[in-house]
Parts: sequence; structure tokens; C-alpha cells
Amino acid sequence: MKDKWGRTIDYLRLSLTDRCNLRCRYCMPEALASVGHDAVLRYEEMLLICRAALALGIDRFKITGGEPLVRKGAVAFMKALKEMDGVRSVTLTTNGLLLSEALPDLVRMGIDGINISLDSLDERQYASLTGGGELSVVRQALEQAAAQCVNVKVNAILLAETRDQILPLAELARTYPIDVRFIELMPIGFGTTLAGLSEAETLSLLVRAYPDLAATGERRGNGPASYYQSRYLQGRIGFIAANTHAFCASCNRLRLTSTGFLKPCLCYDDGVDLRPLVRSGQGEDAICQALQHAIAQAVHEKPAKHCFGEQDHISEHKTMNQIGG
Ligand code: SAM
Ligand code: SF4
Repeated sequence: MKDKWGRTIDYLRLSLTDRCNLRCRYCMPEALASVGHDAVLRYEEMLLICRAALALGIDRFKITGGEPLVRKGAVAFMKALKEMDGVRSVTLTTNGLLLSEALPDLVRMGIDGINISLDSLDERQYASLTGGGELSVVRQALEQAAAQCVNVKVNAILLAETRDQILPLAELARTYPIDVRFIELMPIGFGTTLAGLSEAETLSLLVRAYPDLAATGERRGNGPASYYQSRYLQGRIGFIAANTHAFCASCNRLRLTSTGFLKPCLCYDDGVDLRPLVRSGQGEDAICQALQHAIAQAVHEKPAKHCFGEQDHISEHKTMNQIGG
């Protein structure tokens, strides 16, 4: 459906849990109090929300978290979602630690893409950034996923301290047929506590190594990345530059937290709480009608743009693991 700014909203990021098996410094650097199990939507409740979203033309779904694969039954849920009438794509974003084990089932259910978050290829730095993550486990999962011809993307947050990792990370797109996307650090949650790097700074480093790197102008997948290609690389280099190249004019997304709060924009804490609706005790059709109405309201209220440049206008105080990134 269209929002009041004329944008087509067809993409929902669904957070399965706020829990995580890592402690990335820009996201959840310490164990935060997790929401109680009762507060988290059950899978049937999430599927009902997806059914209502589908009726409004929202047909691409990203499964996120916290770490989605720590929640029991995550892959079976993705399968059930993928089997729903009208679903165009179901993709996953994961830190990769539990991916090897889940991969055969993900491939079997026809996952449309897997994004693996990986900010450094230096073992020690990776462990320090993630609060103890084991790089070799993630690398193995990445290799397995690439070998299975799954549509794999690496997502790397641009940090001042990982500047020397830009070229090694880009090399992954030379070694494997995968896209490597660099993401500007967003000033949400603990994102304000670290120094980031911009797309322009990163691109200038990359162009020295890949002089033929050129913008492709294409749109790949769900959204906001801009892509570059080089004849030396099998995959693309992408940028998600929310700070320096705001892509709000083409924003197509909503976010659902694991507790059922529907967010129209990352920057603001406004939104619609869908949990009371899915738990109203009415019949499924009546709930679905009420959900459609509420989702349409959230789409209507979607602001024209974020306010990352004006820190005191940011009203979102949840952390990224609570929102889903
Ligand atoms: N645990 C999974 C993972 O790491 O991919 C999924 C959830 S994580 C919150 C989703 C994405 O948000 C990750 O790619 C992560 O790097 C990104 N992220 C977390 N905090 C961020 C921040 N402050 N700015 C930009 N991206 C951030
Ligand atoms: Fe966990 Fe992902 Fe946040 Fe890292 S970025 S702490 S892996 S939710």
C-alpha cells in the first residue's frame, strides 16, 4: 500500500526475539533485561499479523532479532511464513553463529536470502567487538551458505576502529559470489557510543584497490543499498548510508518488535501496539480485520524522513536488538 508521501510500503522486518548470543558493542554491549516470554508474540500471532500485512500488499519479510536463530522453532516459523499465499520473499539476518546447523532446513524451505553480520575478519577484533564471538564459526557458515548457492550478503558496520578491515571484507566478494554491504553506524541505542565511518571515506579506500569500481544504479533485494561493481569481484559492494545518503524518499518498510509493536520509522518511538489486537480473543477473521486497520494507520503515520542528524529529535530509546535493526 502507499503511504501519504506516495511511497509503496511492501516490506516488514519481523523481530523474533530481543535475545542474542552476542554482545556487539554498538547494539547490545551488555546483557540487558530481556522481555518476558509472555510478552513475546507466539509464532501463530506473528503469522496472523503477516496475513493482515499481506492483505495490504506487504509481501516481503525479513526475519531479524536479537539473534533470530536463538529462538526455538525459528526455521519452522520461516517455512510456515514462506508457504503463506502471496508471500514474495522471506529473508533472514543473522550473526551466523548458529547458521551452519540451521542451513540445511533453511535451504529446504527455500529461504530467499541470508544476510550475515560480520564487521571484522580479524579474530581478536571480532571477539572484542562482539563480546566473545568466534570468527571461525561464522566464516564456516558463510562458506557453506555461499557453496549452497544461497543468496548471501555480508553486512559490515562501518566503524572507525575497523577501517583496516574494509579491504579484507571487500575481498569476500572476490572469493565468493556474494555481496558485501557496508552500513553506516546509526545513532540509535548504543550506536551513539562508537565512532563510525562514512560511505565516502570507505569508497575512497575501495577505489584505490578496485579502480574500476562503478555504481550499478540497480536495486537488489529489499531496499536501500546502493551497489558498485568491479571486474575483479564476483559479488557487489553495497552501501547502506542512512546518515550521509538518507534514502527515506524510497523507504518501503515497517518494523515489528518481538512484543508486537509496529514501528513506521527507526528514528521515532511512535507506532501501533498490535499485541492487544492479536490477543483480543476474537475470531481470526475479526482479528485480521482489526490488524489491517492498525497496520494501515501505521503506514499512514510514517514520517517523511528520519532525524539522525538532529540527535535531540530522536525519540527512539530502544536498543537495536529490541528493534531488529
Ligand atoms: N543478530 C542479527 C544480526 O546481527 O544480523 C539480527 C539483528 S541485528 C540488530 C540486525 C542488523 O542491525 C545487524 O546487521 C547489525 O549489524 C545492525 N545494527 C545493530 N546496531 C546498529 C547500529 N547502531 N547502526 C546500524 N546498524 C546496526
Ligand atoms: Fe546480537 Fe545482532 Fe545485536 Fe550483534 S547486532 S548484539 S548479533 S542482535
